[in-house]
Amino acid sequence: MTDISARLERLIAAAGPIPVALFMAEANTAYYAARDPLGSDGDFITAPEISQMFGELTGLCLADLWQRAGRPDAAYAELGPGRGTLAADALRAMRPAGLAPPVHFVETSPALREKQAERVAGAFWHDDIATLPADRPLLVVANEFFDALPVRQLIATYSGWRERLVTHDGEGFVAVPGAVPFDAAVPAHLRRAAPGSILETCPAAVAITRALAARIVAQGGAAIVIDYGYAEHAAGDTLQAVHAHAYADPFAKPGASDLTAHVDFAALAAVAAAEGAVVAGPVDQGAWLAALGLSTRAAMLAKATPARAAEIEAARARLADADQMGTLFKALAIVAPGWPAPAGFATIDDRAAPPESLARPA
Ligand code: SAH
Repeated sequence: MTDISARLERLIAAAGPIPVALFMAEANTAYYAARDPLGSDGDFITAPEISQMFGELTGLCLADLWQRAGRPDAAYAELGPGRGTLAADALRAMRPAGLAPPVHFVETSPALREKQAERVAGAFWHDDIATLPADRPLLVVANEFFDALPVRQLIATYSGWRERLVTHDGEGFVAVPGAVPFDAAVPAHLRRAAPGSILETCPAAVAITRALAARIVAQGGAAIVIDYGYAEHAAGDTLQAVHAHAYADPFAKPGASDLTAHVDFAALAAVAAAEGAVVAGPVDQGAWLAALGLSTRAAMLAKATPARAAEIEAARARLADADQMGTLFKALAIVAPGWPAPAGFATIDDRAAPPESLARPA
């Protein structure tokens, strides 16, 4: 039994069942603190680990935006940078455009901070976004960060809505409805939902997006949030666990598998707009990367290293095709008023038509 399992079991024995959000927060903190979960020998793989093209195109998108915004003194900030691969690829792609910003990482895992330091020299680390620089525009990227934040779940029962809690039945952790009625927390049209229906929210994602949007409005800049999720609110349980590249029971082994939930882009867009930011998207990852010149970049890489042509094409397909990551993953842009629209997003207004392709040799 892991330390975190024992600790949660003691907590539940002493205080009673705990909210799903607390279970997820504790499990993921333990999970990320100790290890590098990314890559083929880890538990899951992410877009920047699939191909350098992902980070390069993200970097070119930001460099193009920065140029059209008049080349201000800006900082690069990344939330949950994993191994630092996206940042390394993005920063390399930005340099020829004359963009070499100071780098700020928001990362809680000591193990991953070490990896990031190996990939990116001279970065500054933060526990949360509160301490990011306040004196300049921010160019922010978050890839597969919001899906790792704890979700709160409500469940419909025969006697009304309850918070979904986690208890320990002597053999293992199991989810159960709590005793306290939660009907007042549920929108009126969902009050009579069929028993077993689940409503999920991510208070941490909303709080972080609100604070990030406020910073961007006050300081200038933009944030690009890429994650898997849904463009419109949807009811349902999306909590999932991934271990060794396979789905697992999310409650079975806290701290041993990665817990994620689908990102509610509509909720993030609404809170960012309420702070006064201009919101573009979400657009499908495949369409976004295609607009940034993914095919051109893939062709260039294949020409430079013909022996790797099949591998490069497989990576392109994995990132962009509809049956792979292309439509499940989406990109949302949160932009300061007065800044142009980042390329690849539906044009915010006529000031900023995205260029046809940003791809060029690194
Ligand atoms: N962006 C990377 C890694 C995604 S995994 C990639 O695409 O490969 C999620 C990342 O978010 C990890 O770096 C993890 O340590 C970090 N993370 C998770 N919860 C966090 C939190 N609450 N605050 C800061 N970082 C967090």
